[in-house]
Amino acid sequence: MFPVSFNRDSMLFAGYWVPPNPSPTLTVLNYSCGRQSHRLARGLLRGELPMPEKLLVVSADPGNEHRDTIRIRDRTHAEFLERGIHAVIAPGPKMLEDLKERKASGRTRIDNSALWTASGGQSAQKCTKYYKISPMDRVVRAYLLYHMGIKQPKENSVERWIGFSWDEQSRCKPLSQKYQQVRWPLIEMGETKEDVELWYKMTGEEMPPPSVCNHCWANGTQTFKRISETDPEGFERAIEFDEASRDMSQFGMREKCFVSKTLMPLVELRANGFEATSSDSQALSCDSGMCFI
Ligand code: SF4
Repeated sequence: MFPVSFNRDSMLFAGYWVPPNPSPTLTVLNYSCGRQSHRLARGLLRGELPMPEKLLVVSADPGNEHRDTIRIRDRTHAEFLERGIHAVIAPGPKMLEDLKERKASGRTRIDNSALWTASGGQSAQKCTKYYKISPMDRVVRAYLLYHMGIKQPKENSVERWIGFSWDEQSRCKPLSQKYQQVRWPLIEMGETKEDVELWYKMTGEEMPPPSVCNHCWANGTQTFKRISETDPEGFERAIEFDEASRDMSQFGMREKCFVSKTLMPLVELRANGFEATSSDSQALSCDSGMCFI
């Protein structure tokens, strides 16, 4: 189990890897409550992974995640808190409310999700940074300052755990802030996505749904179908987001926009029985370490 003897040569992303700080000031678990980050959280709580001396568990809340994600995340946060470990949901803007407010107030800038445009293009994806990463980074800085009295953290003094699995090494990137060093414990343990699923089967732990917003541009038709069946309220919010995204001319987008790559409004997709099309999107990815893990 982690930490294992580390074979640097075996790491496909060796260029990004530097030896871990043996005694980080703070270890932060990026906890999106997807299958992989939840596996790390449960591994810590079950005593299968060594508990860092000083651990902070941080989750983001962009405002429209699956209800099972929220339920499982909150339960796990409570378990950390019971053990005296800080587990925090980073306060921050909610994507649907933010979009509606900005439209109503006539603002012309938005850090929106990567919507699909009528001609088949895609707008820039800024949502992960604005609605997840920045709020979480603010929590880490506030924690260092108010709980640990550290205003200027030293280089590599904060260790950040991200739940990429062995087969996702192409997603690994260094963090931009010098005071933080990233670690990928599942990669260090050599666990693939399949291994993670097997772990859930073997332990009987509840496996959460993939960590993705209900209205995410990366959801394929079958994902939207699953959301509509398992989280009807969340799907209604996804429809609301989709409808509010249709006309984004105020933000400089001339074409109609859609959350589904099929370029069908979500209400129509549902009315059509979620029939997949050749232009369907599925399993698209980003390297943030906060979405789709
Ligand atoms: S899950 Fe999708 S919509 Fe949500 S923050 Fe990540 S990329 Fe954006």
